[in-house]
Amino acid sequence: MRVGVIGTGIAGLTAAWLFQRAGAEVTVFEKQLRPGMDAHSIEFEIEGMAVRTDVPPRMFNDSLWPNLARLYREIGVQSESIEPSKSFARFDLSGSSTSIAESLLLRLGASYQLNLAPRLLLNASTRQILKDIKRMMAVAPVAILHPIRLTMGEYLRANDYSDSFIFQFLYPALSSTVCTCSYESLDDYPAEILLGAMLKLTGSEGLYRTRYGTQDVVRRLIARIDDVRLGTSISNLGQTRTEALVTTDACESFGFDHVIVATQANVARLLLEPSLVREAAMLGQFRYENVPVVVHTDQRLNLHRRQDWSHFNLISSADHRTAMCTIWMNRFCPDWQIKTPIFQTIMPIVRPLPDQVICAANLQRPVVDQQSIRGLELMDGLHSESDRRIWFCGSYASPGIPLLESGVVSSLKVAEKLGVGWPDKCGI
Ligand SMILES: Cc1cc2nc3c(=O)[nH]c(=O)nc-3n(C[C@H](O)[C@H](O)[C@H](O)COP(=O)(O)OP(=O)(O)OC[C@H]3O[C@@H](n4cnc5c(N)ncnc54)[C@H](O)[C@@H]3O)c2cc1C
Repeated sequence: MRVGVIGTGIAGLTAAWLFQRAGAEVTVFEKQLRPGMDAHSIEFEIEGMAVRTDVPPRMFNDSLWPNLARLYREIGVQSESIEPSKSFARFDLSGSSTSIAESLLLRLGASYQLNLAPRLLLNASTRQILKDIKRMMAVAPVAILHPIRLTMGEYLRANDYSDSFIFQFLYPALSSTVCTCSYESLDDYPAEILLGAMLKLTGSEGLYRTRYGTQDVVRRLIARIDDVRLGTSISNLGQTRTEALVTTDACESFGFDHVIVATQANVARLLLEPSLVREAAMLGQFRYENVPVVVHTDQRLNLHRRQDWSHFNLISSADHRTAMCTIWMNRFCPDWQIKTPIFQTIMPIVRPLPDQVICAANLQRPVVDQQSIRGLELMDGLHSESDRRIWFCGSYASPGIPLLESGVVSSLKVAEKLGVGWPDKCGI
């Protein structure tokens, strides 16, 4: 079987790995010069040392990412637990130019065990947030067993959750870390998806990172694939009765028995030849939001007092309509022997000072709503056709929050349709 894979994010790499293991002849195309999953990672020098960091830094555990964790075990990726403490604060530029993060609210450790300064317990809004956290954690297991079919916004309103809980705790955490999307998109998320994810994220298991970074994952997934064409952008995708055809920007054409399109949905749509109308309609159901990420040393994007810094610092805008997450990278990468605090801020509310920026990336993330769920139904229909040669996978292409897990699951699903599964079960 000749298989072409377009895109080398986690979805494309997983698909390529599965098919190569099953004996297929695999060709991989990636428009960037580096495999996409690791394309934004950087190496830089500080205090005379070379350090490398993934951009963005990604986390996982066995509960919310069971298939990713299995894949990592299969390919021998080592992982390390990370300390999941979070500080929540409000961003305030009005105080002084150096003190922008004020009103430290809560510091949470694993399993939402609270580590609160006694003075904070006197605060009525803090007490309300704690009450609502407990309430949500108590009802979440029931909501998942008996899906409530409400959006998150509807669910929160129907159950009278307090504004303090929503805008000082829940939305800052979901918007700037787990989902990386706007508050408006959080309102539209199916409630059971977010509640289920929160339970799996806050269990006793904790969170992990890959020990040697994304570079190591990519190297292991790609190692045995003979034909990897980096810097090769696909511009057209079509099919005949016997082949799926891809054409590169340089007008080179390739025919395959099957092509797996593992680009973002909005990009995949632009590649389709005009006759692929149903595929275009399906891909049009998925919406993306921009997610800026900056690696920097500007402490103004963190809490004012260093003793209040957690590993993840979630800072709401003054109007509580948006939030950023400043990750203290020295904690994320404990092997770094450097004193200068290095931060990675996701969706910064203000730009770090230019001379303190190490790198900046503009990423995109799919959002989940009723329309994207409709898109998944359409995709299931297309993928059930017996003569199908063009397949779609990616983090958007599986139910749930678009995480590395959904990328892996979407590729597994396509592979299974073609008779390929995990290595112990595969063979074509
Ligand atoms: C800030 C942030 C933090 C995140 N943190 C986490 C986390 O902690 N844990 C987690 O599980 N997930 C996390 N995610 C989500 C995760 O990174 C994504 O779900 C995942 O990387 C998406 O993988 P993918 O394979 O679907 O797509 P992508 O990684 O987008 O891959 C698509 C690939 O297709 C290539 N391509 C596009 N067009 C063409 C073309 N014409 N020809 C050839 N190649 C093409 C692209 O260059 C790219 O390499 C985070 C996301 C963001 C933005």
